[in-house]
Order: sequence, then C-alpha cells, then structure tokens
Amino acid sequence: MSTTRDYYEILGISKDATESEIKKAYRKLAMQYHPDKNKEEDAEAKFKEISEAYAVLSDTEKREQYDRFGHAGIDGRYSQEDIFRGADFGGFDDLGDILGGIFGGGFGGFGGFGGGQRRQGPMRGSDLRYDLGITLEAAADGVETTINVPRAENCGSCDGTGAKAGTSPKTCSTCRGSGQVTQARNTPFGRFMSTTTCNACHGRGQIIEEPCPACKGTGKMKKVRKISVKVPKGADNGLRLKIRGEGEEGSPGAPSGDLYVVIHVEPHDKFQRVGDDILYEQPISFTMAALGGNVMVPTLHGNVKMNIKPGTQTHSILRLKGKGMPHLHGHSHGDQLVKIIVKTPTKLTGEQKELLEKYQELEGSPDVKGPKGGKGIFEKVKGAFEAGI
Ligand SMILES: [Zn+2]
Ligand SMILES: [Zn+2]
Repeated sequence: MSTTRDYYEILGISKDATESEIKKAYRKLAMQYHPDKNKEEDAEAKFKEISEAYAVLSDTEKREQYDRFGHAGIDGRYSQEDIFRGADFGGFDDLGDILGGIFGGGFGGFGGFGGGQRRQGPMRGSDLRYDLGITLEAAADGVETTINVPRAENCGSCDGTGAKAGTSPKTCSTCRGSGQVTQARNTPFGRFMSTTTCNACHGRGQIIEEPCPACKGTGKMKKVRKISVKVPKGADNGLRLKIRGEGEEGSPGAPSGDLYVVIHVEPHDKFQRVGDDILYEQPISFTMAALGGNVMVPTLHGNVKMNIKPGTQTHSILRLKGKGMPHLHGHSHGDQLVKIIVKTPTKLTGEQKELLEKYQELEGSPDVKGPKGGKGIFEKVKGAFEAGI
C-alpha cells in the first residue's frame, strides 16, 4: 500500500515547489537511499516512498489531485501501478537503470513499473477497490450490505492457463521460463544489474501457441461477484475495510488479491458530522429564548427533550451528551451539539404587534421588573406566539 506521509514533507520541499525543485530534491534523496548503496534496513522502504512522492508530484494532474484531496485523491483514483505508470523518471539518466531494475523485478509489489505487467511465476491477483456510499444513519448503527464487484476470475475452460483445452503452454525459450531478462550495466554509481520483463512472453514465462477461445488466451474472465460487507458502527469517510481474498483471482497456484471497500458517508440534510460529534441547528422562537421552555430535538438516536434556559442567546451551543456517533470499535458515543437559532417573527397579527409595542414601551421604562407575579407581559407575549413557533 502507498505511504500515508505528506509527499512534500517526504521530499522536503514546499507546497509551491517548481518542477525543477521537485526533480532536484528527488535526485538527492534517491541517491541517498538507493538500496544498493544504502545498507540501512529501511533504505528500500524509504526509496520507494520518495519515488512514490516524486511520481505523484512530478505529474501535473496527480499533483493537482493530491493538493486538493490529499492522499484520498490519489488512492481513490490511481492504483499503485498507475501512480508509477507514466511518471517521468526519464530525466534521470544516471538513475534510469536503477529504477528499472528496482521496479521491474528487484522489489516485490511494483508489478507495473518499467513496462512490465507481469512478474515471473504464478501471479497473485490484483487488489480491488470498491467505493461504498452509506447514509449517516447507517454509519451510526452499522450496516450489513451486499455489493456487486466485477472482477477477473480464472477462465473455467482453460483453468486460467490461457491455453486451448488439450494443449498446454510452452516454456519461453528467451527467458527460460523466468519471465525476466537481466542485464548488467555500468553507471556512475557502479555496476548494476537491471532486470526487465521478457518481451517474448510478456513476463509469463510461457508461450501459448493455441489460445483458449473462451478467454482469448488471457486465462481470465470478467465476472460479477456478490460480496457481503459489514460496515461497523461509527464508520467515517475514507474508512477502508479489507476483505481478504476477494480481489482478482491469481493465476493458477497463486493467491487472490484483496478487496478494499472504501466508505463514503453521504451528507445529511439535518446533521453535520464533526469527528464523532453531531452538529445540529435548532430554531426556537424569540419568546422561548427569553422565557425558556422545552423543545424536542431530533438526534440519530430518536427525539430528545431539551431544556432551553430563560435568556438563551441565538447561536449559543448546547450539548446533548452521548447523542453523537458511536466511536469506531469503542463503546461510548460522541455528543450532539445543538446550535440555537432564535427566529425573529416576520408576520405579526394585530394583537401580537400591540403586545410587542407594549413590551417595547416597558423595556424603555426603568420601573419594569420582569414577569414576576401574575401574568406578566412576557407570559402574554409567549401566549400570543405559541402557535407561531
Ligand atoms: Zn480460457
Ligand atoms: Zn520469456
């Protein structure tokens, strides 16, 4: 899987670095961490990380995508192969062979670099990604659903060999079945062995003379598979659920890839999620704001009676403890934050207007002590507005 560190940070450059600054930074780090030169244990991982960062940032489209959406924008659109495919490693004459050698065969995990699509021996199936949209309610309660995943499975007619029934593939004479050819080359860094995919068999190590008619020699068929997915309570955007072995089927004898289900929680018309808290705007009448009272507030867990204290200001935030989203893999919940919006009435009846004018008069008078004893002016106003909340 790709790195989660910031690409700019990896290369030690600023967000507005120019193309040539990116190239320069990459060249410097690539030489420093090249696994053939650097014998530290994590040099190989470091080298891959900086190469990935460079592959993305040196590509205008990928860089823009990354700037806007971060890693989600890259992982969401490009497979690991796609990140490196088309990346411009061309300017590094001195590194070219090293890169080809590393990504073409030396390292596991990068099947697609350097033009080679396949690696020697039985190939593990590719990982697949499926984007699953769910409602906020489903994210709060957890949900079990069935998804239809199109994926490559081994052809039933040829058992995935790609050779017509009754025939069998022949071992490639160019690479003697390894799928790769190795060449030695001298570079300014020393002598490097570069391994590339065999052109004669495209890395399969085998030549099919009579292709299977059902799959046209590919050994694979596209099939749609129903897979049940359990989304846990508290799932948030970008949560990745790994379903082992449900990716594309590997070539005969090799394991299948994995399926990654990426969760997208749809926006809600009432609730806004902030981490595990829920933000909700509750309108109240201005009389309730002044006099206090109770309102029914919708939450993800049903309606809750909430007390409004007399003298509540608009935009004040009240907290309903434990009424937010469940913590993922935990037992407790976030809170619901209720933002009070005091509504000013726009249409007044004659009586309401009269009462408010009376109130305005009293407001200006220093003798007014408020609604103490008997039915005060506030009570009258409240009565008149009760219906209009
Ligand atoms: Zn077939
Ligand atoms: Zn070959």
